[in-house]
Amino acid sequence: MSILLGCIADDFTGATDLASMLVHAGMRTVQTIGILKEPVPPGTDAVVIALKSRTIPADQAVAESLAALQWLRAAGCRQTYFKYCSTFDSTDKGNIGPVAEALMAALDTPFTIACPAFPENKRTIFKGHLFVGDTLLAESSMRNHPLTPMHDSNLQRVLQRQTAKTVGLIEHSTVAAGTQAIQERIESLKAEGVGMAIVDAISNDDLLQIGAACADLPLITAGSGIALGLPQNFRAQGLLDVQDAARDLPQTQGLQAIVCGSCSQATQAQLADAVARGTPAYAIDPMRLAANEDLVSQAMAWATPLLNQGPVIVYATASPDRVKAAQEKLGVERAGALVEEALAEIARRLVQAGVRQLIVAGGETSGAVVTALDVRSLRIGPTIDPGVPWTVSLGATPIALALKSGNFGATDFFTKAWSLLP
Ligand code: ADP
Repeated sequence: MSILLGCIADDFTGATDLASMLVHAGMRTVQTIGILKEPVPPGTDAVVIALKSRTIPADQAVAESLAALQWLRAAGCRQTYFKYCSTFDSTDKGNIGPVAEALMAALDTPFTIACPAFPENKRTIFKGHLFVGDTLLAESSMRNHPLTPMHDSNLQRVLQRQTAKTVGLIEHSTVAAGTQAIQERIESLKAEGVGMAIVDAISNDDLLQIGAACADLPLITAGSGIALGLPQNFRAQGLLDVQDAARDLPQTQGLQAIVCGSCSQATQAQLADAVARGTPAYAIDPMRLAANEDLVSQAMAWATPLLNQGPVIVYATASPDRVKAAQEKLGVERAGALVEEALAEIARRLVQAGVRQLIVAGGETSGAVVTALDVRSLRIGPTIDPGVPWTVSLGATPIALALKSGNFGATDFFTKAWSLLP
């Protein structure tokens, strides 16, 4: 059976967020890092292509998104989903409007919705205005975002500045009236020549109704919330019969390790907790790396005899004072790069030594490790803590990877995670 849902996400963590949502709703989902050359394995219901297109020039974002669409269409996808941030991160130049418009043209469809709402994460839309918690978007911390400052909470206006299409609104009174009312409103907007419509949503039930109403739209543009309501459409058509997409992961057998490059408060607490429970841990000091000490070999010599007894941790995690001291001596970028390079090489050698279950803490650190391991695609599995699923890399040597960005995860993350592997 071909892939049902093809998704194009404008950044990596957003892609994981969407993929987790789809898995939760019952679709076997693969996340790819950029556009693959090869097809994904049979038995994949949804593919999420992670691009880095949120803040690049609009013409580049359009070109990359169209290339992703081409791959998804070749894979036989029935519906396309353009995923952006739930705070609608974009500038007046794009990239949401230009990418949505280009995808509409390529799919030859006159209409799509735009709905970043994710009520569970406190992103709601009412009368076209986006709220972050109790605060309007333009009054939230997003107004100071370094790359995509959001100064207007009215998404109809925000999107209208980014596209030549007419942008309309599907108000909450319509959404609350249910699937059929939403579909009728879509038809009347189309008849008026409206090309895109912001859709109000303030609850999970709203998302489910909107999802059902979008069953026949070739293109959906949204945050990850709308994904809640899409698998039901495929199930209703008899195209999806998986019971537990999260646990239906390729098995990995092997040694366990944790590589920790995040210095966030959450990671510091998680590291301290794991050490207190007896997990052996080895520290990497950027000052010693800068002095050309071969800490990679030293860490491996330390880890190798311990690996058979259980998970080990290699970490660069340090207190803010120590990080600051290293940064003052080496420069912020050099300190970061030295640590990332060392941890990525350690991860590669740990895998060579037989590690097949690996937790990585830190967003940038995860990027460096995934590159060093030459991981191009991931099957998404069960959620460990919100925003962090277990994944299994696809390829010659499947490795279970939990890629945790800094502040995510409960204090017992480094011990709890192992028990959640299928
Ligand atoms: P997070 O997700 O918490 O932001 P990242 O991995 O994205 O974590 O970023 C942490 C950055 O800090 C990385 O570039 C890492 O190499 C760097 N780093 C880690 N430990 C140290 C340290 N002891 N001194 C200086 N920089 C460090």
